[in-house]
Amino acid sequence: MSDICVIGTGYVGLVTGVCFADLGNRVYCLDINKERINKLQQNVMPIYEPGLDEIVERNVKAGRLFFTTIYSEALKNAEFAFIAVGTPSGVDGEADLQYVRNATEKIAEVVDHAVIVVNKSTVPVGTGDWVAEIISKKRGERKLDFSVVSNPEFLREGSAISDFMNPDRVVLGSLEKAAAEKVATLYASLRAPILITDLRTAEMIKYASNAFLATRISFINEIANICDELGADVREVADGMGLDKRIGRSFLDAGLGWGGSCFPKDVKALAHMAVLHNTQPQLLQAVMDINRNQRRRVVYHLRKVLGNSLSDKVIGILGLSFKPNTDDMREAPAVEIIHLLENEGAKIQAYDPQASENARKELPGIILCDDPYKMAEGADALVLATEWNEFKQLDFERIYRLMRTPVLVDGRNLWDSARLRKMGFTYFGVGQGNHAGRAANKEG
Ligand code: NAD
Repeated sequence: MSDICVIGTGYVGLVTGVCFADLGNRVYCLDINKERINKLQQNVMPIYEPGLDEIVERNVKAGRLFFTTIYSEALKNAEFAFIAVGTPSGVDGEADLQYVRNATEKIAEVVDHAVIVVNKSTVPVGTGDWVAEIISKKRGERKLDFSVVSNPEFLREGSAISDFMNPDRVVLGSLEKAAAEKVATLYASLRAPILITDLRTAEMIKYASNAFLATRISFINEIANICDELGADVREVADGMGLDKRIGRSFLDAGLGWGGSCFPKDVKALAHMAVLHNTQPQLLQAVMDINRNQRRRVVYHLRKVLGNSLSDKVIGILGLSFKPNTDDMREAPAVEIIHLLENEGAKIQAYDPQASENARKELPGIILCDDPYKMAEGADALVLATEWNEFKQLDFERIYRLMRTPVLVDGRNLWDSARLRKMGFTYFGVGQGNHAGRAANKEG
């Protein structure tokens, strides 16, 4: 059993803390957000993540998990201080490190015993060295026995607990191998491959991984748009490509582009780092451009069927979170699409199973509905933005009757186009040969 402090109780920090407690450690989760900590102390989850509340309750009851806003309390016996605070995009696309700096300074201020500072936040290459510098400078003569380890996180929101407990790999980077090996012991029971590297390499592995996944999505979206015009079906193209073992099938689902709290800011930050060091990130730039344009495809389809002016058209949006099983709307395709449509003068009514609370703050101009059918009422078109399970089996006959004009833009290729067309809907998928008359030829 180890004593651990996790700084930041967002998607990563909270899941990390709770899972380490579940593995038998004593864990203090700390946040500067009092409301968040108050909620956690009452077993109310500040984020939606399947299974999280149960595991929190179990570990609090077992006396292994604590929530606090007080650094001295959280770090009192900590052998490991994990930093898991946000690193959002700054003005030029760089990662904003103010929260990492604050957390680091607090560690330097409060700790008076040997500690390993483990950075879980996604941070620019070189940040580990900077963290060490901040601590040494802040302590001056009052030297602290500490090491810095980079331990990038790869969990996905929506399956965060299972991802944490069953990682494909654990990456640990440090200039002091012994420190990385100590952190490795925390993960030993997970039986995952552990890769120990230097600090900067570990930091780069995180950025390169996210940039590569974003590249795959932008690649298949570009192929999808070509399919649309040429009359091929990108779903079968992806299957055909994916059977090649060198390629694989994952991250080849065409859609409305990537979003969320990580890919957009991480690709931007990597490109920014490259430019800063006189390298031209041409591929990363194209990956971001394709992603931005992918949102505009929705407007392109809608114009084809509703005419050039979308002013006063009522558009229903199904799904607001950036992907299913989360309430996180950061850089969600739905949000950008809504802004594009609002700029065209369209009226938006939307439904999401979990993100309504966040949407109320972020999208004050839209009508939030209690179910998909209220959302369909009087709509000129309906756009599927997030593929929540509950959207798979909708009562489309009812939806057909409720809509003013039966137009569907299936931004996730979730529905059966042939059936819906037969029912009388005008249907657009992604890369299904929408603009080449293919659907008409194939489905009669
Ligand atoms: P988040 O925004 O959900 O949570 C960050 C938390 O840190 C907030 O609760 C905030 O109040 C707290 N915080 C800020 N400054 C603090 C301080 N000085 N002391 C204590 N708490 C402080 O962020 P997140 O999504 O959990 O991401 C955290 C980091 O992990 C980011 O660098 C992100 O890129 C990375 N990451 C995120 C994911 C993901 O799926 N969300 C996956 C892998 C890596």
